Amino acid sequence: MFACTLLTLFPKMFPGPLGESLAGDALARGLWSCDALDIREHGLGRHRAVDDTPAGGGPGMVMRADVLAASLDAALTPGDARPRLIMSPRGERFTQARAREWAAGPGLVIVCPRFEGFDERIVAGRSLIEVSIGDYVLSGGEVAALAVLDACVRLIPGVMGKAESGAEESFEAGRLEYPHYTRPREWEGRAIPDVLLSGDHARIERWRRDEAERITRVRRPDLA
Ligand code: SAH
Repeated sequence: MFACTLLTLFPKMFPGPLGESLAGDALARGLWSCDALDIREHGLGRHRAVDDTPAGGGPGMVMRADVLAASLDAALTPGDARPRLIMSPRGERFTQARAREWAAGPGLVIVCPRFEGFDERIVAGRSLIEVSIGDYVLSGGEVAALAVLDACVRLIPGVMGKAESGAEESFEAGRLEYPHYTRPREWEGRAIPDVLLSGDHARIERWRRDEAERITRVRRPDLA
């Protein structure tokens, strides 16, 4: 079972969209679990403060390392082998390869910061992997964590049917997927490419491979 623990100030955001459809069914079937814990429970003082002003000055607030550590320490079981992530625009870029790797493991512990970010010392202090989902700034780590989880959960054995096993999908072979079509045969003057209706499986296979390579070259030369 892929066990996911999230540390957040907004536990109600989980499982959120992952409570529906493919991931939701898998959750109900016990193929993965989603435990969202409130960082505020480890906040300090009467107001349960989780953040403080940045050392050196400047705008915004920074999440405290001691508070994050306390909530992590309470969440981890002895010998917990799950990778521990902290969502961060400065982190390593999340990829399909990482999704494959993590989906095959025991689960994930994910810290979801807010505000200006978190005290740098928590990363080394608790051996966290900083993970980014792309070059843009979200208002908090929760939506980023949901994206990571969605990509992992669909790869957990038994979640997707064999037919949609994902082996041919974008990024799996280092290229983007070929284009799809379905009925009607002609729509607003646009026809399905003849080859796909030819019934010649070898030709279809070749066309799809060529299209995947062409589209990858044009759109993502960095992958090709
Ligand atoms: N001041 C920070 C941005 C803070 S956004 C900076 O300039 O780098 C608040 C939090 O949202 C971040 O700490 C992170 O947890 C999350 N977040 C924002 N964008 C993200 C992204 N692209 N990937 C992963 N997490 C992100």
